[in-house]
Amino acid sequence: MPNIHQIRADFPVLQRQVHGKPLVYLDNAATSQKPEAVIRAMDDYYRRYNANIHRGVHTLAEEATEAYENARREVARFINAYSSREIVFVRNTTEAINLVAYSWGRANVGADDVIVLTEMEHHSNLVPWQLLAQSAGARLEFIGLDPQGRLRLEDLDQLLGRFGRQVKLVGVSGMSNVLGTINSVAEIAERAHAAGALVLVDGAQSVPHLPVDVRASGVDFLAFSGHKMLGPTGVGVLWARRAILEAMPPFLGGGDMIKSVHLRHSEWNDVPQKFEAGTPNVAHAIGLGAAVDYLNGLGMDWVYVHEQSLAAYAMDGLSAVPDLHIYGPPPAERGGVVTFNLIKNGELQIHPHDLASILDREGVAIRAGHHCAQPLMEHYGVAATARASFYVYNTPEEVDKLVEALLKARRLFGLA
Ligand code: PMP
Repeated sequence: MPNIHQIRADFPVLQRQVHGKPLVYLDNAATSQKPEAVIRAMDDYYRRYNANIHRGVHTLAEEATEAYENARREVARFINAYSSREIVFVRNTTEAINLVAYSWGRANVGADDVIVLTEMEHHSNLVPWQLLAQSAGARLEFIGLDPQGRLRLEDLDQLLGRFGRQVKLVGVSGMSNVLGTINSVAEIAERAHAAGALVLVDGAQSVPHLPVDVRASGVDFLAFSGHKMLGPTGVGVLWARRAILEAMPPFLGGGDMIKSVHLRHSEWNDVPQKFEAGTPNVAHAIGLGAAVDYLNGLGMDWVYVHEQSLAAYAMDGLSAVPDLHIYGPPPAERGGVVTFNLIKNGELQIHPHDLASILDREGVAIRAGHHCAQPLMEHYGVAATARASFYVYNTPEEVDKLVEALLKARRLFGLA
């Protein structure tokens, strides 16, 4: 069983103070902090074997290539991919989804075809499909939410029944970055496949926080970001089944994604290089490999249980704060995300941005805003919410500080 004090000692930033108070970092859904092992892996690359990959025969180039490809293998094992050839390194989740919408979408989605999304999607899993729908003349349909913030899967059945084989893809987040809802992607994949549609999972919040197994879930595409899973910014992953990747045309053209180039035409490299044009983010891919190593050391089952129990503890503690409304499902159905507002009779008592500023004075970092999910905010009839999100290094004592800081904010606003 991992020791939380040892874990915390691995993260240099957790030693710092903010406004004279120990940092309580509860903004992990936006980005996670980095352990020493990740920082060291990137530092080591720059100090000892910095070189461009795949092209050189000298020792440094070979070492860099080996480390980069090793990171790819680590990531593949982490999500139980069939092969590391299915792992495409990109910049982030957003780029991975754009890659699919542009490359697979333009080749497979035509006029009157349907892309099914959900009302809880992050802008990253909405806007690329809007762009595709506009250029292809396709339509977007949506799975709605029940009052607890769960997907109404009957909407999916209804849409599949209504549009049949015109539905080309169902795109869904593995876990909502606002509600914390964990979506049953295996069940969605089963229903979508039966109707001939593929399934893309936005794994930005699920891959860092839950055990994810692409073989068991049966999905077709999975997108995620390194920076939310203890790794650096600037590197993310698109996973797709090899046959799908092989059939997809390139996204960006340039070096490394080709086998041969002539003045008027070229032949593409094998996957995944076909989708990795230009010099990739070598150092940060290596950092992501180290992050995966670190998470494997903790065990993803433990990570999930740890965060879920923090969310349950937080929801219990927050129930002591008057007029605090929590969005989303009960603890057993969510990951480590708790989004709330101080709201009475439909009126915000303190704007989430003011709350976040007051909490910052107490050293508590939370996020306020629309969380890049404006349609979801519209669903709830609010412009913004406050969100606390947990990760491997957070403790119940930190949750207590969140609750104390919220009670203090109420007092400051004369609401006690
Ligand atoms: N999808 C979800 C569910 C997210 O939470 C985020 C990040 N907030 C993204 C997509 C986008 O991730 P990135 O900015 O790393 O591309």
